[in-house]
Amino acid sequence: TVRTRIAPSPTGDPHVGTAYIALFNLCFARQHGGQFILRIEDTDRVRSTPESEQMILDSLRWLGLDWDEGPDVGGPHGPYRQSERGDIYAQYAQQLLDAGHAFKCYRTSEELDELREARKAAGMQLALKPADLALDDAEQARREREGWPHVVRMNVPNSGVCVVRDMLRGTIEVEWAQVDAQILLKSDGMPTYHLANVVDDHLMGITHVLRGEEWINSAPKHQLLYEYFGWEMPQLCHMPLLRNPDKSKLSKRKNPTSINYYRRMGFLPQAVTNYLGRMGWSMPDEREKFSLPEMMAEFDIQRVSLGGPVFDLEKLTWLNGVYIREDLDDDALLQALREWAFNDAYIKQILPQVRPRVETLSQVVPLAGHFFSGLPALVEDDFDSIKLDKEELVKLLQFLVWRFENVPAWHKEALLAEVKMLAEHFELKMKAFLAPVFIAITGSTASASVMDGMAILGSDVTRARLRNAIE
Ligand code: ATP
Ligand code: GLU
Repeated sequence: TVRTRIAPSPTGDPHVGTAYIALFNLCFARQHGGQFILRIEDTDRVRSTPESEQMILDSLRWLGLDWDEGPDVGGPHGPYRQSERGDIYAQYAQQLLDAGHAFKCYRTSEELDELREARKAAGMQLALKPADLALDDAEQARREREGWPHVVRMNVPNSGVCVVRDMLRGTIEVEWAQVDAQILLKSDGMPTYHLANVVDDHLMGITHVLRGEEWINSAPKHQLLYEYFGWEMPQLCHMPLLRNPDKSKLSKRKNPTSINYYRRMGFLPQAVTNYLGRMGWSMPDEREKFSLPEMMAEFDIQRVSLGGPVFDLEKLTWLNGVYIREDLDDDALLQALREWAFNDAYIKQILPQVRPRVETLSQVVPLAGHFFSGLPALVEDDFDSIKLDKEELVKLLQFLVWRFENVPAWHKEALLAEVKMLAEHFELKMKAFLAPVFIAITGSTASASVMDGMAILGSDVTRARLRNAIE
């Protein structure tokens, strides 16, 4: 039976690209009466967080992209979180070592830099091969005896061409000369993506791997690993990446990429899922509006077109409007509003912000309106009270956007640290620094605390509002 999977790394906000790839894997599996698995690839222990994992699971569920096996629902091939499978990878790495398909590499990072420099100077391919990395026997033995830190790397051919088959692209040819002796186990014993991904896809019985085209370069290494293990390789299908309207790769610098953003802005999950289904794919009759079951029924991977699909906020917004008008009667719309923001959990987050500032309940809505709205419609006059010249003002907001892009865990303390740091940089008191931020976020000068506001609104909505004030 067909088994597909989505294998997100929980290192940040849940990406629309993850939902897009999940959707196609789900449809492919369902169309063949197969299963769809969710596996968490959290081998990067520094960047992975449980909060990010939870957000990814929540967002995919919100979109209706349900999986048959996964860390939260279990299944016969668990655990489904790579950080809990360390022993398995160690065992398979040892198998490769024993068979001579991998070797222990004791090179220091300084030595690796020197090797690369030397190759660069000689105008050679930068890929490091087993022969380049080898130490003479005595030195290898000494480092082993003295217990130096080491990694496990795979053997790769020096020359020739690797031919990989892709379900959409036919054959892809890669020169082995460009492929390095990939690290499989890091010095802390954790596997890299390549080893863990291949071992798990095999053990979990994955038959088809649909993933972003950014992984094409990894395919030769994976194919070789399957050969080393003597396993059948799943069929590969590299999907085109989502694009900004200017055709560059969709990135959070230019567009909101977090599913949380679309949720907070009041998009309907069925509209987002429908729109993602239109990314590089179309229904046989080309209709724009279709449900997930309809997409599953009509799905055909060969209908994916490789030209980069543009993720266009305006089109998504239009489609969302169609859903609201055509699919939601008053009761359903009321229900959608409840799920979106008019619910106890969300309103309770806001109450501490308004309680000290109101005397009547009717003052709550004007004060908290920005928690229930999209991007404020700002005019130049809104910033009249700010005692900064325009250039300085734009710089301040832009710097803040850049700093906020890299806040790993979005909570008030982390935001405060960024704001303090920048206020010092601009030689402004906190109050003066926050004044324009206040207007950008709340659209007014009279409102609740902007720091708490940003913490509640989340990273993407906050950054979108700051950008909105600059443009
Ligand atoms: P950004 O440029 O917005 O920071 P990124 O490339 O850093 O994005 P990651 O956090 O590395 O994003 O990726 C998260 C997941 O989203 C990965 O699985 C990746 O394959 C997927 N992804 C990222 N960008 C795209 C895209 N343009 N199209 C499809 N999938 C994408
Ligand atoms: N963990 C990888 C990612 O974050 C999975 C890539 C794959 O599907 O092989 O996208």
